[in-house]
Amino acid sequence: MLIHACCAHCAAYTISHWREQGYDVSAFWYNPNIHPYMEHEQRLEAMKALTTQLKVSLIVSEGYEIIDYFRQVVGHEDERCRHCFQMRLLRTSEVARERNLSAFTTTLLISPHQKHDLIREIGASIAEATGVEFLYADLRKRYSDSRHLTKPLDLYRQQYCGCVYSEWERYANIQIK
Ligand code: SF4
Repeated sequence: MLIHACCAHCAAYTISHWREQGYDVSAFWYNPNIHPYMEHEQRLEAMKALTTQLKVSLIVSEGYEIIDYFRQVVGHEDERCRHCFQMRLLRTSEVARERNLSAFTTTLLISPHQKHDLIREIGASIAEATGVEFLYADLRKRYSDSRHLTKPLDLYRQQYCGCVYSEWERYANIQIK
């Protein structure tokens, strides 16, 4: 199976969860939403360090497709998370299919800060369209366990979800419509 990884800290427990279910797990990095570029690179470096530690193969989508991300969200920022999830999960399912992997999921399902039901809905609709099974688990109760797993590794830890809008919300303590 292929696990879309949003960050090392959400990936740590998620990877062990699916391994415990008996899956042969690979991780996939595709997060064009993360702004700015150096923030993207720091989070990717943390993910590489984690997967080396866990001995999990990490597939990295090369490049930085932030222009595609903005083309999806500009003009309908209130729906930006839907477009963001759609982009990332669709690419994950396509890569899974190319590599003959039978299922995909995302580490976003462990975060209590994400729109959980929306992720589930989008994952299911992509599965129907691509024929690659979307594996769902509500891991939100294990969010702090995942962070405890990465604490000794001293990995870069982000302070906001990813996009420039979420960075603005985080530091200005506001909610963008
Ligand atoms: S808030 Fe997070 S999930 Fe929503 S669009 Fe921004 S980066 Fe994506």
